[in-house]
Amino acid sequence: MHEASIVYGLMRILEREAEAHGVTRIRRVNLRIGRLRAVEPQALLSCFEIFAEGTAAEGAELAIDHVAAQGHCGGCGADFELAGFRLVCPACGGDDVTLTGGDDLNIVSFET
Ligand SMILES: [Zn+2]
Repeated sequence: MHEASIVYGLMRILEREAEAHGVTRIRRVNLRIGRLRAVEPQALLSCFEIFAEGTAAEGAELAIDHVAAQGHCGGCGADFELAGFRLVCPACGGDDVTLTGGDDLNIVSFET
């Protein structure tokens, strides 16, 4: 389950940030996750609960902002949001598409 490794990484960042700011209690964590990460929100929340136990983030609310996948067409130059995982340009139908976004995985902020 790759959510576990994602949460593990997030917790390490959170704990470091909490320590750096002298925070002992985190109430809410705001995440930005790109669709390309294919994260299952419910699995992520469950993992977070487990990993946060005994840390400053125990009992914190996890708010997830999902970011759509973005593509750029090399054929016609269009920028667009990808619907699903088909790499086809909606403007010209070409397949010379480069992914330009949607693999985000960031802690935007946390509230204490
Ligand atoms: Zn195009």
